[in-house]
Amino acid sequence: MIEITDKSKCCGCSACSQKCPKNCIEMKKDKEGFLYPVVNKDVCIDCGMCEKVCPVLRSEPEKKFTQTAYLVQNKNQEILGQSTSGGAFTAIAENIIERGGVVFGAAFDDDFNVFHTYAENANDLRKFRNSKYVQSDIRGAYKDVLRFLKEGRAVLFSGTPCQAEGLYRYLGKKYDNLIIIDTVCRAVPSPELWKRYLDYRKKDSSEKPVYAAFRDKYRYGYQYSQMHIKFDSGRDYYSGVESDPYLRAFFNNLCDRPSCHECAFKKRYRISDITVWDCFNVSLIDKSMDNNRGVTRMLVHSEAGEKLVSTLKNVQLVAIDPDVAVNRSKELVKPTEKNQRRDEFFSDFESMEMEQLIKKWFPDRMKVKLERFTRKFLARTGLYRIAKKTARKVVGKD
Ligand SMILES: Cc1cc2nc3c(=O)[nH]c(=O)nc-3n(C[C@H](O)[C@H](O)[C@H](O)COP(=O)(O)OP(=O)(O)OC[C@H]3O[C@@H](n4cnc5c(N)ncnc54)[C@H](O)[C@@H]3O)c2cc1C
Ligand code: SF4
Ligand code: SF4
Ligand code: SF4
Repeated sequence: MIEITDKSKCCGCSACSQKCPKNCIEMKKDKEGFLYPVVNKDVCIDCGMCEKVCPVLRSEPEKKFTQTAYLVQNKNQEILGQSTSGGAFTAIAENIIERGGVVFGAAFDDDFNVFHTYAENANDLRKFRNSKYVQSDIRGAYKDVLRFLKEGRAVLFSGTPCQAEGLYRYLGKKYDNLIIIDTVCRAVPSPELWKRYLDYRKKDSSEKPVYAAFRDKYRYGYQYSQMHIKFDSGRDYYSGVESDPYLRAFFNNLCDRPSCHECAFKKRYRISDITVWDCFNVSLIDKSMDNNRGVTRMLVHSEAGEKLVSTLKNVQLVAIDPDVAVNRSKELVKPTEKNQRRDEFFSDFESMEMEQLIKKWFPDRMKVKLERFTRKFLARTGLYRIAKKTARKVVGKD
């Protein structure tokens, strides 16, 4: 049976818990706020199923095959504005909905916890748009996927690479009516940190968040997207990657799940049909798409994926060399390094109030203020993209 002794060896995908024939595995939060399986040994029959479906214990070996790649930008400006990068996910999802299918993805529940759920109409796809930088709780999604597949419906499942492999192992085979999209992910932060952070952002206990986006493009465009939280009082909170404490924790790798730093799913050749991720350096690949509205990079791994892409509507689609697509995409193939102070951060997270934690770890120092001023100035004057390109060249990223 599954017994977690080394947390870096469990990505929290829930495949074991959903597959257990005795329903005796509960996903429980640890003190950092991440979910891990806990077996009720009194009920367990030692069938070994949980170990068999675990995508970390039995990770899929990487096998080379022919791929295709594309740059995608949704032509619907509203959808593009709401999406993290180029809105490729929605274009694919709409195709599935048009066929009477069901789309699975990560959404906020009423309390702004992130969880996996499904949509059966195009309007409902809105809840999946924009990356939630929080680990999504799979809850009963794999079981629901299987139910719809057995009913003969077309199903699209989207999630992190470990969730994609978790589903694949849970199902035990590929289905003709299933498409899997995985998003490249540098790591996933603690749901408990997000919860406490959101509470901290409220003016008082009566104020409630009504909207949250980790990568809002409306103010300054794709290259300088911001955290945006809207409250029922009408108040808006906006903050950039250099200033917002939550984004600073995430991009400094202080609050990631331990398994992310030894991620077994970083590879070019995947079990999914399509992999999507950002394309900040689009100007180096196709200048015509470099309009600061966002472009999705798409790597297609299967014939079913390719067939679907060929029928996409309302998108600008540019075929590119797969080698060019994966070039300079470290997050696709290499785990992010653990911040040496991560454990100290979580120890403070357990013992401190949020205000104290933020004061200690993310003070609004002069350096931060200066960076914020510079970024905003460059974004307002339209010079942001040029400055970012120059900076990337100087540090050797482009
Ligand atoms: C936690 C996380 C980290 C990421 N890190 C990187 C990175 O380092 N580099 C990079 O190039 N791209 C990264 N991405 C991917 C990128 O942000 C976009 O998701 C991708 O470019 C597709 O954008 P889109 O405009 O086509 O779709 P969008 O409309 O933005 O689609 C969002 C899709 O992501 C899924 N999703 C959103 N949040 C989660 C979540 N918490 N867990 C599982 N699935 C989720 C939704 O179900 C939906 O399918 C990350 C995404 C996530 C969720
Ligand atoms: S060994 Fe079988 S019964 Fe026991 S926890 Fe694993 S799946 Fe469940
Ligand atoms: S990685 Fe997934 S299947 Fe494996 S133990 Fe963790 S939750 Fe269970
Ligand atoms: S980095 Fe790896 S382990 Fe972490 S969420 Fe992404 S795929 Fe899963």
